[in-house]
Amino acid sequence: MAGVFILIPFSILLTEVILLNLKSTKLVMKKNSLSEILNTLKREDPIRKIAEKVIENVRISDDEGLRLYEKGELGFLGALANFCKERISGNHVFFNRNFHIEPTNICVFDCKFCSYSRLLKQKEDAWALSEEQILDLVKNYDGMPVTEVHIVGGVHPKMGLHYFAGLIKKIKLIRPDLHVKAFTAVELEYMCRKAKVSYEEGLKILKEHGQDSLPGGGAEIFDEAIRKEICEDKCTSAQWLEIHETAHRLGMPSNATMLYGHVEKYSHRIDHMQRLRNLQDKTKGFNCFIPLKFRNKDNQMSHITEVSVIEDLKNYAVARIFLDNFNHLKAYWPMIGRSTTQLSLNFGVDDVDGTIDDSTKIYSMAGAEDKNPKLTTQQLIKLIEGVGREAVERDTVYRAIKNYSASSAEIC
Ligand code: SF4
Repeated sequence: MAGVFILIPFSILLTEVILLNLKSTKLVMKKNSLSEILNTLKREDPIRKIAEKVIENVRISDDEGLRLYEKGELGFLGALANFCKERISGNHVFFNRNFHIEPTNICVFDCKFCSYSRLLKQKEDAWALSEEQILDLVKNYDGMPVTEVHIVGGVHPKMGLHYFAGLIKKIKLIRPDLHVKAFTAVELEYMCRKAKVSYEEGLKILKEHGQDSLPGGGAEIFDEAIRKEICEDKCTSAQWLEIHETAHRLGMPSNATMLYGHVEKYSHRIDHMQRLRNLQDKTKGFNCFIPLKFRNKDNQMSHITEVSVIEDLKNYAVARIFLDNFNHLKAYWPMIGRSTTQLSLNFGVDDVDGTIDDSTKIYSMAGAEDKNPKLTTQQLIKLIEGVGREAVERDTVYRAIKNYSASSAEIC
């Protein structure tokens, strides 16, 4: 127990110390610091050769991605990832004004890392919102400038394709301007299977009723052996990719995630990102990539120690460098906390998600520090500007709505 008391303050202290350093020295790693670091490396150093390729905008291989994870020094990775980020989005960091609806945490599946689902265990903690309750949640935002609702939850055996299609239609009747980003590929695979329709038919029905895009959840780790170990009974990697490919073909963009920091190895992360990079080459339908950190509270993998902040930052940086055809990399602040989110903005991240408005329980139930995740627009702007970046409000597909930076009063 004493160890816990020592370890927790230390990790927080570490984050704070790095953050203080960032703020006080304005340590934004730009091109010049990258070339300074490059000059310290020998010409034949493989890491230097990888950096030179990246600077020349040449795609790196799986082996080179793996080498970055295994041999890349954190400061160097941050500088290179920053270079990639700034080449795409300059000094901008995006956020949106959104809220979540989690219709239920009852789930037919049994993912070992999940702290959220309730079917096999503690039924008293389960919830299943009625249609009326869900529509009331939407009505709560009447007159408020939110642009997106994010709908995901457990896979409830009685909430099917046609129920959700009808629900989306009613949400759009209340709020026609709201972008509906809904249902992970895991939920979609189950609802299409139960409704006995193809993914294409199912997605077309949802689109016709008002669904605009898909979130990126349920990808976890694509490697089949690891997937079998941590989430054996839900949709396969091939199904996840097929559903997203189908959605892209139908004009529904999506996001992609990766659950890291559990039993996977670096090679599995590279394999995961390589499959996403290949699909993105084909469809260009992914808006952003969101690494999701494994949190260990109250799940069947609680014995696994969570990875450090350093590992989080390294992961963001390698993802930014490797995924050369993804325009955006998101740090999901309710998952990693506000301080680490600020740090990530110097490791390739250009998006911090949204205001959330205390409308998700997924990460607080898994042990995230923010028990009631909610930030006002002003707080989000402060968080972004605190490390020298420009805050830009965006819509779901990254069209800029407003640039809040003090030096740029323009409305984009
Ligand atoms: S991660 Fe999703 S699919 Fe898996 S048990 Fe939890 S809610 Fe269900």
